[in-house]
Amino acid sequence: MITLTEDLIRTSFINASKGAAQRAQLPELDAIDFEQLDLLGWQDPKRPTQHYVSLEVDGHVRTLLLRGAERPPAKKLLCSWCEDIVDGNQAALFVAPLAGESGRRGNTVGTAICADLRCSRNVRRAPSSYELRSEDPALLEYHQQQKIAGLQERSARFVRTVMAG
Ligand SMILES: [Zn+2]
Repeated sequence: MITLTEDLIRTSFINASKGAAQRAQLPELDAIDFEQLDLLGWQDPKRPTQHYVSLEVDGHVRTLLLRGAERPPAKKLLCSWCEDIVDGNQAALFVAPLAGESGRRGNTVGTAICADLRCSRNVRRAPSSYELRSEDPALLEYHQQQKIAGLQERSARFVRTVMAG
């Protein structure tokens, strides 16, 4: 994804007030390799139930406010964005306020996403033997590109749902 700046992030919130966008604690952006990311997700260190995700949708940077559930889910959930199936990756339930008036009235949309929001890493990992048994670099590359494309498509779809209000 493109290299994000503080300004780009703060001005691209789709479902938070200007005040909330200004108050959001941002990660250390200089330390991030954006070439390895399809989305940047992080937790607000001062408000641990608040999470943010920045990604490009239809050529624009969009930043989402997500609220994490207070308790971990009772059963294992599949991340609806990266759909990664490796054990140890925990998906959690998040809700996003809808954009605009609908969100101000308290309407939200929920989904299960990797608790650490590191879906970009999951779609770039080497496939397990039960996913793809191959040493062919072209096939491995194709497999990874398919996973990356799937993540981008599903996360963008969620952003569009939030923006539709
Ligand atoms: Zn994920």
